[in-house]
Amino acid sequence: MRERYDLIIVGAGAAGNAVAKDIEGINALVIEKRSIIGEPAECAGLVSKKSLEILDLDIDDLDFVQNRIYGAYIHSPRGKTYHIGGDKLHAYAIDRAKFDRFMANIAKNRGIEYLLNTKVEEVFKENSRIIVKSTDKEFETNVVIGADGVESMVRKTFFDQEPDEILFGIGAEVEGIDVDPKSVHVFFGKKLTPDFFAWIIPINEKGSKARIGLCMSYPPSKSPKTLLHDLFNYPTTRHFLENTEITNITAGRIPLGYMKRSAADNVILIGDSAFQVKPLSGGGIYPIAEASRACVSTLNEAFEKNDFSERRLKKYHDRWSEKLKKEILFGLWIRKRYRNMEDNDIERFLSYLERRDILEIINRYGDIDHPSRLIFPLTKKIPTLISLLPKIAGLFV
Ligand SMILES: Cc1cc2nc3c(=O)[nH]c(=O)nc-3n(C[C@H](O)[C@H](O)[C@H](O)COP(=O)(O)OP(=O)(O)OC[C@H]3O[C@@H](n4cnc5c(N)ncnc54)[C@H](O)[C@@H]3O)c2cc1C
Repeated sequence: MRERYDLIIVGAGAAGNAVAKDIEGINALVIEKRSIIGEPAECAGLVSKKSLEILDLDIDDLDFVQNRIYGAYIHSPRGKTYHIGGDKLHAYAIDRAKFDRFMANIAKNRGIEYLLNTKVEEVFKENSRIIVKSTDKEFETNVVIGADGVESMVRKTFFDQEPDEILFGIGAEVEGIDVDPKSVHVFFGKKLTPDFFAWIIPINEKGSKARIGLCMSYPPSKSPKTLLHDLFNYPTTRHFLENTEITNITAGRIPLGYMKRSAADNVILIGDSAFQVKPLSGGGIYPIAEASRACVSTLNEAFEKNDFSERRLKKYHDRWSEKLKKEILFGLWIRKRYRNMEDNDIERFLSYLERRDILEIINRYGDIDHPSRLIFPLTKKIPTLISLLPKIAGLFV
């Protein structure tokens, strides 16, 4: 016997839970292969203030928020340090596992069913319905949502696009560190990581606990153990990390690209499965917040009209693309250029942060979810950036 649901969400990560907590009047089931939602967390847990606002989470009663972040120290490859921000709240350091469970609990309290410890093995279309098969059960639904992460089985079944690039991230929690609790640290250097950056994110108000880590293109050129060893021994990071103790290690992959089609007849993709990630930071929570809004409004309309065709569900794709496409394309384009830069170029580029007028622009227009918004105001101050403008404008049309 097949159990029937209006909607089945595969995956109880941030994306699956964000949709589950906001749907109304839809008989829905979330299927998750892990036995505990959110564990193990593959995330550094830095989320913008705006992400939580879009997710409609009232910050005053959230037990997953660990720390408030107002600024960032940027470390150049040769050890120069610049500070940006500092005056207003930009982001939160969160306990990602608790965050996932918090959203799942809202959904459960609103009547959404969760089935844990159950891996979806197969998804296919039969007439105008979707059949979802797990190890020992079969389900039938109007719509399936693939919120099943980077290796999404739903994506591989119904769509023919893979990410342009995958990042590999390795991270750890450390105790006994001594950092300014209000700012994160970002470290550049081609020997530390050739095509990304490393980070320290203070996760308590004393600055004595932090999440540290780095990303690089997947597959990584070194073992996770060696990458962590390098992080502890690189000239600009090591003095922060000596005398600290690692309490937890995590690793994961992050898909980059722009998904040209994320809805098909009876199917929607969201989160990592649809590469909804900011390419310059690897952040997936803000895109998920925007995409889950688009998803919920499209689902409400589809159930109201009883129409689950691609034509109807494509509105979801158009809605999230309107919010995220520009930044994803911009980020991918900058990444390509960054990969070809040498430490000297990075050093020169970062030295603009010595200028008070540049810092003022960054502090005024800087938005961790929308880095492209800095380009136009900055070109007024840095004439060499003007030559890039036509190419950047070309991305957006
Ligand atoms: C090292 C690292 C650091 C990061 N740091 C940040 C950060 O600081 N800020 C930020 O915004 N983002 C960060 N990210 C990115 C962020 O973690 C992801 O974008 C986010 O987790 C994506 O959520 P998701 O729900 O789409 O996928 P996931 O969180 O991967 O959830 C997918 C869920 O689907 C389940 N699943 C998969 N297949 C099946 C199946 N067949 N059957 C049943 N269940 C299935 C999985 O078990 C999982 O629970 C980081 C990523 C990494 C790797």
